[in-house]
Amino acid sequence: MDITIIAETNDDGLHPVTSQMVAAAAALGSSPTVLCPGGIATDSAASIDGVGAVIGVEGDCFSSFDGGSWSTALNSAISGGTVFAAATPNGREIAARLAAARDIPVIQDATGVSSGLTISRPIYSGKAMEKVNVSGDCILTIRPNAFSPSGSGGSASVSTVNHSSDVHVTVMEAIAKASERLDVSEANIVIAGGRGMGNIDNWSQLESVADQIGAAVGASRAVVDEWGLSHSIQVGQTGKVVTPTLYIAVGISGAIQHLAGMRSSKYIVAINKDADAPIFGVADYGVVANWEDALPVLKEALSSL
Ligand SMILES: Cc1cc2nc3c(=O)[nH]c(=O)nc-3n(C[C@H](O)[C@H](O)[C@H](O)COP(=O)(O)OP(=O)(O)OC[C@H]3O[C@@H](n4cnc5c(N)ncnc54)[C@H](O)[C@@H]3O)c2cc1C
Repeated sequence: MDITIIAETNDDGLHPVTSQMVAAAAALGSSPTVLCPGGIATDSAASIDGVGAVIGVEGDCFSSFDGGSWSTALNSAISGGTVFAAATPNGREIAARLAAARDIPVIQDATGVSSGLTISRPIYSGKAMEKVNVSGDCILTIRPNAFSPSGSGGSASVSTVNHSSDVHVTVMEAIAKASERLDVSEANIVIAGGRGMGNIDNWSQLESVADQIGAAVGASRAVVDEWGLSHSIQVGQTGKVVTPTLYIAVGISGAIQHLAGMRSSKYIVAINKDADAPIFGVADYGVVANWEDALPVLKEALSSL
């Protein structure tokens, strides 16, 4: 199968989802071509196992993100076939624009693929899974962390092409919120707190466990709204969608809007004093207890690992 992958890059180079997209393509029997917008991280892309070729797409338009110009420039470098992009805000926009330009379907947020082409993805905020079958080429976005990454022993050939396009939207300034903490949507482990944590003074106890295990700290909307925490850590329908290997929910009831953001985590551990809390419906491991009792025990157990 002929697959082209639009690499996802950030200030650190290649985003891990790029390697995960290669694994998804490999599951379909493809050795994909990876396009690196702006020519960023071509060597890293070439070192991913299973990559057939890497093309750095260079051009003035890649100096800041503009979905319109990026997709036009990238489109010129795609010969045909199916295209994968990451299910991130930028990837989704590029995917939609490419699909319109190529007049082929777009399927967003895939969490599974099998030959055919059959695609699985969560719908209705994760309340149901949908399986769709596409005949012919399509554009597909892949949810970060839904696939294990490919290995890193590859040595694909790297070439460069020059394609640019008129920029219509220029990012004048982007100010990253100063935080030493991991981003919830990037982290492998997330420990998230809810209203059951009592009040903001107890938040440091969650952070201290997070520091111990290298986790990001997430939050329910209730505490973001009520305790003035940054919206960037909110998990859920109106926050971020996370798919870490381990999600620890502390004092979170498990409202459907929260589950929408975390139910596809690989392992879910819930600590809640109410045995009937809905969060236990999606948890792999549940601790029915006050967090005041459970967190110190968890911390102690982790420190002896
Ligand atoms: C349109 C819309 C969008 C929304 N988007 C989001 C979203 O993106 N993310 C989100 O999270 N919510 C979202 N919500 C809000 C959502 O419906 C819930 O109100 C919210 O998730 C509840 O947060 P919570 O679980 O922290 O609080 P609560 O529902 O109040 O639950 C607190 C939990 O803590 C437990 N608890 C209490 N004390 C302790 C203790 N000492 N030890 C252990 N457990 C304890 C309780 O048993 C309870 O289960 C949205 C709502 C709407 C209408």
